[in-house]
Amino acid sequence: EAITVGELAKRMGEKGADLVKELFNLDMMVTVNQTIDQDTAELLVDQFGHNIERVSEADVDIDTAEDQDPEETLKPRPPVVTIMGHVDHGKTSLLDALRGTNVTRGEAGGITQHIGSYQVTTKDGQKITFLDTPGHAAFTEMRQRGANVTDIVVLVVAADDGIMPQTIEAINHTKAAGVPMIVAINKMDKPEANPDNIRTRLLEHEVIVESMSGDVQDVEISAKEKTNLDELLEKIALQAELLELKARPDRMAEARVIEAQLDKGRGPVATVLITRGTLKRGDTFVVGTQSGRVRAIVNDQGKQIKEAGPAMPVEVLGLGGVPRAGDVLAVVENEQRAREVAQYRQEKATEKRTALAPTNFDTMFNNIASDVVEFPVVVKADVQGSVEAINTALHNLSNDLIKVRVLHAGVGAITESDVSLAAASGAPIIGFNVRPNAKARELVKRDGVEMKYYDVIYHLTEEIAKEMAGELGPER
Ligand code: GDP
Repeated sequence: EAITVGELAKRMGEKGADLVKELFNLDMMVTVNQTIDQDTAELLVDQFGHNIERVSEADVDIDTAEDQDPEETLKPRPPVVTIMGHVDHGKTSLLDALRGTNVTRGEAGGITQHIGSYQVTTKDGQKITFLDTPGHAAFTEMRQRGANVTDIVVLVVAADDGIMPQTIEAINHTKAAGVPMIVAINKMDKPEANPDNIRTRLLEHEVIVESMSGDVQDVEISAKEKTNLDELLEKIALQAELLELKARPDRMAEARVIEAQLDKGRGPVATVLITRGTLKRGDTFVVGTQSGRVRAIVNDQGKQIKEAGPAMPVEVLGLGGVPRAGDVLAVVENEQRAREVAQYRQEKATEKRTALAPTNFDTMFNNIASDVVEFPVVVKADVQGSVEAINTALHNLSNDLIKVRVLHAGVGAITESDVSLAAASGAPIIGFNVRPNAKARELVKRDGVEMKYYDVIYHLTEEIAKEMAGELGPER
């Protein structure tokens, strides 16, 4: 019987990276996703001083990502869109303007208070969910917590300004997430607007719009004058169609916390995005280390509703505390189960805190002094699947002493922008089944950037793990 390192770590209540490190010490080069045989597993369990009891104890927890809904239960669901772009290019204005299209189209009036995320219905009756997440930092933080909730990114670029640092960041983050992008060239009402300049400049960042024979849709808009917003919505709907987004509506709900706060009158309130199932008033749930019971569901119009289905952003009242953005809210069978899971998670959290707490000033000082070393890399691969796999594999090489930081990971040949990014950060470039183009090769020579090529992920992780160990030096 074999088990993945990750699964074993979960059952033991240990960090996957710690197990990988231990295995490394045993001269076994494996990642969290690889399987090990029973003898090795038992050795590890022994090494960490665990016994079988701990295993069954861990089974108390629910793992939401584990069980997949059968294909035949899936139904089409609306796309979830995040708007990104440089500051002042018009993200907020666009969010407001799009919400306005819905208000005038649907039953208007009576909106006194509403949540930041909302749904819009297109002329053709297609629903689109817009998330109000401030900036790419939130997007990436959510992603780091495994909350890949965004299906499509709308990149806002002001036609009178151009490609700015945060525009490039947004592009990198979007690409790293493997999420399709639609470019909204904003502020077209301004006389100095130059959309063709934007399109050309985007080429430098490998964003090729359709009119330049690429596959990225673009649309010229004015958030201020509210022009061409319907066209933008149509393009989102078209992109969504290609993605064939589906979720199972008839099951216990699962949702992601988008934001949460303590409301004076209403207590802890969370804005969540339903990822599957249907959330109903009265449902018992677990979120983070808290259990709760849905006291009220408030939709994006500020109205109380009885239930909410996939891709709907709603406010949930009835939480035991304030959860973190990115937490999974999962409905469970009954209160006893909810309490059991919440309590188990609380104990785990306390255990971790005690384990991490410095015992005296000396150790506290040592902890501060021994900062975690960062190991930056730029990754390019032939297909998105490989990018994701390499990202995960590299991430799993991190431990308490050294952390892999993927500056940029993308699909395609190694380009000049990859080399400049790598050079600026002293990072090696990892090419998986790809090679640099001619210009990039020149730059590599000039800037002395280290290049590494692989065609087997195992070789890649093996070598990088060795490099990382070397980085730490013999004294650590
Ligand atoms: P954000 O920082 O990306 O959220 O940008 P904002 O939505 O706050 O917009 C920044 C500024 O640009 C504000 O003064 C807006 O009024 C202005 N703005 C946004 N969209 C347009 C537009 O389409 N045309 C013009 N002329 N100004 C706009």
